[in-house]
Parts: sequence; C-alpha cells; structure tokens
Amino acid sequence: MGKTTGFLEYGRKTEPYKPVDKRVKDFKEFTLPLKEKELKEQGARCMDCGIPFCHSGCPLGNLIPDFNDAVYRGKWEKAAQILHATNNFPEFTGRLCPAPCEEACVLGINEDPVSIENIEKNIVETAFKKGWVVAMPPETRTGKKVAVIGSGPAGLAAAQQLNRAGHSVTVFERDEKPGGLLRYGIPDFKMEKHIIDRRLEVLKEEGIDFKCGVHVGVDITGG
Ligand code: SF4
Repeated sequence: MGKTTGFLEYGRKTEPYKPVDKRVKDFKEFTLPLKEKELKEQGARCMDCGIPFCHSGCPLGNLIPDFNDAVYRGKWEKAAQILHATNNFPEFTGRLCPAPCEEACVLGINEDPVSIENIEKNIVETAFKKGWVVAMPPETRTGKKVAVIGSGPAGLAAAQQLNRAGHSVTVFERDEKPGGLLRYGIPDFKMEKHIIDRRLEVLKEEGIDFKCGVHVGVDITGG
C-alpha cells in the first residue's frame, strides 16, 4: 500500500490552474502539473482498502491502489504498466474523465478522496516523456480483417485491442481526422490536439489503418 499513515499526514492536492492573466492569452490546457514529491504524497494517501470501492467506481476497472502504491514508491514504469493493463488511453481519461473513482474512494467518506485522476495523468505523461509508450504490434496475424466504424475513444480502443489480437484493422472515420469527440468535441483547454495525435502515431505504428473522410453506409457499404 501507499504510506501507512499517508492519509493522516497529507491533504489532497490537485493540479492548480494557471493564473487568469496568463490563461486568457491562449486556448491551451490551463492546469499546471504537480511536482514529483507532491504526486508521491498523493499516492501515499491511498489506504489500499480491503474493499477498494475505487475499483468498482471506475468503469474501466483500473487497478488504482496498485498504481497509487507504485507512484508513492517512485516506480513510475511499473505504475505505467499497471495503468495500461486496463486503460488504452490514460492520457485521455486522466484529463477528461469525471472521475467516478474519486466519488467512490473510501477516504472520501470522511476526508477528501485520493486525487486518482491527477495521478493517472501524471503516470502516463511520465511514460510518454521517458519513451515507455511504444507500439506493441502483434507477433502473428490471424488473416482476419476487421472494420471499426468511428474513431472516437471507443472505436480507437476497440481497434487497438483487435489489432493486438492479430486481426488486420481498418478504422473508418467520416470526419477529416481521427478522434471523434476527442478532437471535435473537447476544447483545447481541456486537452490539446497533439495529445490525440501522439497516441494515433502509436496506433498507426502498431499497424492500424485509418481511412478518413469516409461515410460508411453512404460512401461504402458492407456488401
Ligand atoms: S478507495 Fe481510495 S483509499 Fe481505498 S484503495 Fe481506492 S483509492 Fe485507495
């Protein structure tokens, strides 16, 4: 677990916002990252509960106490492996998810919950900076072809899993570029577009084919 007495020693901290006079000058993300020491303290707050309600709060079933502990111990690569075991794109969820895990966190019953979402975001950002997020193409191909219609987060995750299972995946997207709501529904101040493009490069390296500007059912049919 994190530090046995961590939840007694440290309060909850989340990423602060840029000052307003700086924030109004551009449309970029407006949060400032926590320092490594602060992130470790936040990981230390996790109580490794006997029944970790954060698990059931998270729709992905993220292994939250495990990556909290790894962050507390400074084992960032291990934390990244644990996080990617259940989450294809933590850099999206770490910015955009409404964090039902934090609502479910046991510490939140009588204290502020563990700042799980910020921890998640910083694990994956560290992983990208250190070069730990690499393409993982399948060793063999099944010879089967799969079409994924729509390149929103669900389509991208399905494509990645199916591709890693060895199928040859083509993602069809009606818009000009892949990403769906991630690209066309989320403003840059929540998530800048290069975050999407960075992950798309990994997916392409893994062998996923993207066909944009194709309206399935109109431009092409299943027949
Ligand atoms: S519920 Fe909260 S304190 Fe308990 S294991 Fe999950 S993150 Fe840690």
